[in-house]
Amino acid sequence: MKPANPRRRRRKVMREKTCRLCENKIFQIDFKDVELLKRYTTEGGKILPRRITGNCFKHQKLLAIAVKRARILALVL
Ligand SMILES: [Zn+2]
Repeated sequence: MKPANPRRRRRKVMREKTCRLCENKIFQIDFKDVELLKRYTTEGGKILPRRITGNCFKHQKLLAIAVKRARILALVL
C-alpha cells in the first residue's frame, strides 16, 4: 500500500530498538565468534553504528573491541 500523503512518509521501516546481546544475556563477546561479529559489521568489514544495530553502549564497546581483535587476526575483513 502506498501512503496517502507522500510527504508524511516515514524514513525506512521502524526497527526494534533493543540490544539483542542484552536479551540473549551475552556479556562476553568472543572475537573468534565470526558469525556474531558479521551480524554487526558491513560487508566491507565496518562496524555498524549503534543507531542501526540498537545495541546498548556497553555492548557496542565490547563489539568494537572484538571486531578490532578479529581484524588483527584477519578473521574479519
Ligand atoms: Zn546490551
